[in-house]
Amino acid sequence: MADAGTRSGMFIDGAWIEPPAGRWHTAVNPASGESIGQFAVGDGATARRAIEAAAAALPAWAGRPAVERSRFLRGIAGLLRERIEPLARLCTLESGKCIRESRVEVQAAAAHFDWYAEEAQRVYGRIVPPAVAGKRHLVLHQPVGVVAAITPWNFPLMLWARKVAPALAAGCTVVSRPATATTLTAMEALKCCIDVELPAGVLNLVTGPAGELAGVFIDSPPCRKITFTGSTQVGVELAARSARTMKRLSLELGGQAPALVLADADLNVAARGVAAGKLRNNGQSCISINRCYVEQAVAEPFMTRLVEEVGRYKVGNGLDESVDLGTLISREVLDKVMAHLADAQAGGARLLCGGERLTQGELARGFFVSPAVLTDVNDNLACMCEETFGPVLPVMVVADRHEAVRRANATPYGLAAYLFTTSTKAAFEVGEALEAGTIGVNDPVPSTTIAPFGGFKMSGLGRECGTEGIEAFLETKHISLVL
Ligand code: NAP
Repeated sequence: MADAGTRSGMFIDGAWIEPPAGRWHTAVNPASGESIGQFAVGDGATARRAIEAAAAALPAWAGRPAVERSRFLRGIAGLLRERIEPLARLCTLESGKCIRESRVEVQAAAAHFDWYAEEAQRVYGRIVPPAVAGKRHLVLHQPVGVVAAITPWNFPLMLWARKVAPALAAGCTVVSRPATATTLTAMEALKCCIDVELPAGVLNLVTGPAGELAGVFIDSPPCRKITFTGSTQVGVELAARSARTMKRLSLELGGQAPALVLADADLNVAARGVAAGKLRNNGQSCISINRCYVEQAVAEPFMTRLVEEVGRYKVGNGLDESVDLGTLISREVLDKVMAHLADAQAGGARLLCGGERLTQGELARGFFVSPAVLTDVNDNLACMCEETFGPVLPVMVVADRHEAVRRANATPYGLAAYLFTTSTKAAFEVGEALEAGTIGVNDPVPSTTIAPFGGFKMSGLGRECGTEGIEAFLETKHISLVL
């Protein structure tokens, strides 16, 4: 695994497939620019082949008792945990994130398979009392059918499992199309599914030009659903293109998460929480804190503690156990981070710490940046309106919680929001007023397998995780009987 000489095909109908045009993509470690292996590049024809395989496997898989599907899912969870070290290492090599976070990701992926192994067995229907004598009304939930799952690079294992596990649990078959930057990691996780002897065609993996493959998924009648995690821009494009074929869609899109620090907050908890909520995966997370609003009364002591806290994060090669922040994924992401920092400073913001590209020794080969805190920010700065997707944290001082809520909600996005307070009353009132699908109150890591996750407004459609996560892969049917 992760050897420069390794070549991986695509996986269709229970077999590894060579690339149709003999094209191989070289996977690169963003920390060093070195090759870590190659994978096959597919095309529209391979995607069609994978959909056909998934469609052929569907009746038998959907028809299995849920308890049997559940056993496969448990087996996959077990293998993911057994292989945590090689999987985490590959995840770090391909994505750049620190090894400790990669291990957490493998655990989270396993937890999704365990949770949906249970949920598979709890898909209940109901009998509705009739309005007309002699009739009976049954409500059933059935698998939606073949599902195409398009996933991003920032959490290549966890976000992949969030789709694959509930889809398989519901009785759907899947064609997975992972992000180009982290395909090898997805392929390695797929091997856990192969090694539990999932029947051929139930789970397939294809690669190739994303737009072209998405077009095949959208136009293919047997493909009944597309589940996508990625940018709002691509999500909007998929929604528009899918309207024609009325494809079922789940969209987990971008965010612009605010954090509110109220005057009654425990400032140590708030500083640690805001730093952690910002810097998970180096800011490359959809629920990363992108704007912080602090009440005037505590602005100064909070900022002092926040800068101290952010300064504790060690930047370096993600494989080093002592490192907290690895390389950013690409030159493109680095350029956006540096552009947001330059824009903020040109617009009057003050840099309190960090914000430098690190190029000492081996770091010069990657995209390493010291985490930055900005203050004296205004609403027009790029970092206040767009996802930076990097370690930049703008902090704005506000008069009171009403101003904080108004500013927090003044965005087209609504994925997550954070609140730091010791008041139960404020936790309810402000938590209920914030327009986001997930609210972390004194909790920088609010997302979990067991509770629903998804966006308000431009942050998406539908929910993953929790009970809702399996509902996304079910159709509801009413059978009316006159007996
Ligand atoms: P992206 O460019 O939208 O890519 C995501 C996935 O879509 C990748 O597999 C990508 O393939 C594919 N893709 C690219 N263009 C496509 C097209 N025209 N049609 C169909 N698929 C296409 O997003 P990203 O930059 O990789 O990921 C970061 C974004 O994802 C951020 O906005 C982040 O907030 C969001 N995100 C949201 C969640 C959530 O749960 N709400 C979670 C994580 C990330 P390639 O890799 O080949 O480009």
